[in-house]
Amino acid sequence: MTNTEEIWILAEHDANRVQPVTFQLITKARAIAAGRRVVVVLLEGTQEHFAEQISAYGPDEIIRVSADSLERPADSTAASALMQLMAKRQPNAMLFAATAQGRSIAPRLQAKLGTGLTADCLDLRFDGDNLVAVKPSYGDNVMCEITCPQRRPQMVSVRPNTFTAEKAGGVRTKITTAELTLAAPKGIVIEDEQVAVSSATGVTGASKVIALGRGAKGDATVARTRQLAARLGASVGVSRPLTDRDDFTVEQQIGQSGNTIAPDFLLNVGISGATQYLVGIDQAKLIVSVNRDADAPIMAQSDYTYTGDAEAFLKAFANRLDVK
Ligand SMILES: Cc1cc2nc3c(=O)[nH]c(=O)nc-3n(C[C@H](O)[C@H](O)[C@H](O)COP(=O)(O)OP(=O)(O)OC[C@H]3O[C@@H](n4cnc5c(N)ncnc54)[C@H](O)[C@@H]3O)c2cc1C
Repeated sequence: MTNTEEIWILAEHDANRVQPVTFQLITKARAIAAGRRVVVVLLEGTQEHFAEQISAYGPDEIIRVSADSLERPADSTAASALMQLMAKRQPNAMLFAATAQGRSIAPRLQAKLGTGLTADCLDLRFDGDNLVAVKPSYGDNVMCEITCPQRRPQMVSVRPNTFTAEKAGGVRTKITTAELTLAAPKGIVIEDEQVAVSSATGVTGASKVIALGRGAKGDATVARTRQLAARLGASVGVSRPLTDRDDFTVEQQIGQSGNTIAPDFLLNVGISGATQYLVGIDQAKLIVSVNRDADAPIMAQSDYTYTGDAEAFLKAFANRLDVK
């Protein structure tokens, strides 16, 4: 029997803090819930303040899951934990962050449950009992709506910063605990492990971003931009062509197949503004763009523009800030 009353969200956190994407998913879930309960699953939630941070965004319930093997769970163990929980509670829908962790756990759980998973959604709504997942397709030329009418839970992943998080007042969040017995994963024994703590200075969480495109791909331009970014406390992001350089990867890429960003300030330099790039900057607050082509699509999406050479602009900007 399916519990049609619950939307579940897997909380993402590193050693120190809950990731903002969790709050964004809670806010969206509450907006579309229409009477359904919003439940956050907190694996390995030994830190008291994690539940406190999450409850500020108004979920109806937080399930803190503890098990010996959840101390630093492998993604397969996390998927097994969710599977066990779902056997008892059977939610209608499950939302994941489309992060490295979410993208690893969600398909494992999907395979175990034999249900559907729609990845990298840009919008969500309910149509009756069905969760409608909206996502671009065919190279971004069409937006398609995907439903999973015959299986439950309906599972989706959403990239960080697709939705805006809003704190909620007046919601009494129930906090429950679940004790699980999980078999340790077989086959691979991890003798030692470096825990990667995700950095707030990456493009996804940055409040200021300088983004470089093909029109700003020279070594001198990149070096100057890094100095400027250091002075401004900004992160350096790139459009896809610059990931061909050895010093940038998809971690810094902005756009459909990279990251969605939501900075207070974004400076685009030598970026044309292809649809696949623009989808990643939709949530940026103040956008300034530099391009030698006044008719480049990015210019129409910007609050301020400078028509001219990228290197000349960056040099003048650096001089103004006294960056050598
Ligand atoms: C399925 C799919 C997914 C994709 N995902 C992404 C994605 O996630 N992110 C992404 O960025 N792209 C993505 N793309 C690629 C995308 O379509 C564009 O090709 C890409 O965004 C173009 O990058 P750009 O603006 O840096 O380069 P270009 O389009 O080549 O633009 C360069 C700009 O720089 C300007 N310029 C050149 N020289 C100078 C100068 N000296 N000074 C100032 N301006 C100058 C030009 O006028 C031009 O506007 C994807 C494509 C597909 C098909």
